[in-house]
Order: sequence, then structure tokens, then C-alpha cells
Amino acid sequence: MAVGNRRSLRKGSLRIEAFIVPPIGNNVYIVYEDGSNDAIIIDVAQGASSILQRLKELEIRPKMIVNTHGHTDHTAEDELLRAETGAKLAIHELDAYRLALDDEASAELGIERNPIEPDIQLTNGQEIRFGNESILKVIHTPGHTEGSICLLDEKRGQLFSGDTLFARGYGRVDGMGSDAKQMVESLKKLLALPSNTDVYPGHGDFTTIGDESWLKQMTGE
Ligand SMILES: [Zn+2]
Ligand SMILES: [Zn+2]
Repeated sequence: MAVGNRRSLRKGSLRIEAFIVPPIGNNVYIVYEDGSNDAIIIDVAQGASSILQRLKELEIRPKMIVNTHGHTDHTAEDELLRAETGAKLAIHELDAYRLALDDEASAELGIERNPIEPDIQLTNGQEIRFGNESILKVIHTPGHTEGSICLLDEKRGQLFSGDTLFARGYGRVDGMGSDAKQMVESLKKLLALPSNTDVYPGHGDFTTIGDESWLKQMTGE
């Protein structure tokens, strides 16, 4: 069901609430499990009020806010949502420093964000557990930034890809901390996932690994 810029999706017992919010058509997600009231928030962008309202309607509580990476467009309202919910704020250890400074995006977009510190620094392979049986596995996918991550629900074939993989493309590799070679390696990791894996990017349309046929050519696989 779509309400404005929100979609409610499900895969097995996993529920995904997807929102498109400012500043640059950012996709942010609430994920939770049927019959449980813990939720995980994936990126906040400038969507704190939409997320809070929906959490209230669903009577669920976020235990963790996970940033796919540290760019300001994705993290602008992290602190607001953390303060309102008491959720722990998590980001890959290599992007943690970004929360303490303004970046290219802040200047370009005119976003003001006070320096903040994460509660949890993530590493590759770590498992974020929620509900009774749900796990999001951290896959470190540097390239767009040093500490970009994707989050994988392996059992249900669901991937939250941040600015690493988009429908018909991948994230910019010309910024501070970007690395085009690492991006290729990261995309190879994603190409190794089952082709029917659903992909929920940080911007733009949803896709699947199999629908992104250019990945094979780009990574030389
Ligand atoms: Zn980014
Ligand atoms: Zn972005």
C-alpha cells in the first residue's frame, strides 16, 4: 500500500516501511518483524518526523538506527531521531569520523548538522538481530565512502544497499574517501548474492541483483 511517499512491503515475516524523504530523494527504511515491536531504522536523512509518526502508528520501537554511510544527506536527522527514541546509533567504524564533521554534501545542500558520535561502530560480518528471528548482516562495501555498508537479510534475500548499488548504477566514486577500485570489489561481493535478492537502495528505484545485468560486465565476472 502506498501512502504519499511511503510504501509498506513484506517478505515472509519481515516488514519494510520505505519512505522517500529530503534532501535528495533519500530512501529511508523501518524494518521489523511480524508480532514483534523492535524495529531497525536504516538511514534517517531528513525523515525523522515521518519515521516517528509511522513508528507511533505501528506501535513499534526502534532499537537501532543504522547509517549505510556517513554522508550528511543520509545522516542529517540522526540525532533528532536518536533523542526522540533512545535508539542506539550505528555506523561502520571507518565512516564514524564523518558524523563529527560537515562534508561536501552539507555545503552543497546547505544542511546544518551538529557533530555527533555513534553509539556502535560496525565491522564486516557483524549481525544485527531484531524481533524473534531476524538478522541483518553487515557487508562492508567501501568505494563510495571508506565505511559504506550494505545490510543483508540472508534468509529472506533482502539487501539494503545504501549508495553502493542503485537500480541501473552505483554511487559516486569521486568524493573524499571514495575509491573506484574498491567499488568494483564491493560490487563483486553483491553480484555473488542470489540473483533474486531484492535490493533497496539509498536513492531511486528498488531492484534485484539479477536485474542489474551491467554488474557482470562492470566487475568482469
Ligand atoms: Zn552518499
Ligand atoms: Zn546518498
